[in-house]
Amino acid sequence: MEEIFINDKEKYLKENYPFGGTPSIPELTSEIVCYHCNKIYKVGDYKVFKEDGIEYIYCPSAPECDGTIIDWIPLG
Ligand SMILES: [Zn+2]
Repeated sequence: MEEIFINDKEKYLKENYPFGGTPSIPELTSEIVCYHCNKIYKVGDYKVFKEDGIEYIYCPSAPECDGTIIDWIPLG
């Protein structure tokens, strides 16, 4: 797994958000809980890792936590 450095995290999130327009794309400052490590993060703290040529949006605690954006629960 190789970490990818993202310059424009807002643009990247919009282009790679796995749920399309529904629900709406969260703000980078929105708080979420990672279902895998049960910690609270800001969306903008996400990391990106490349695996088998595909980029995935990971929990800010990756690679220690294997949660990805689909494991996040929005707060509030
Ligand atoms: Zn996590």
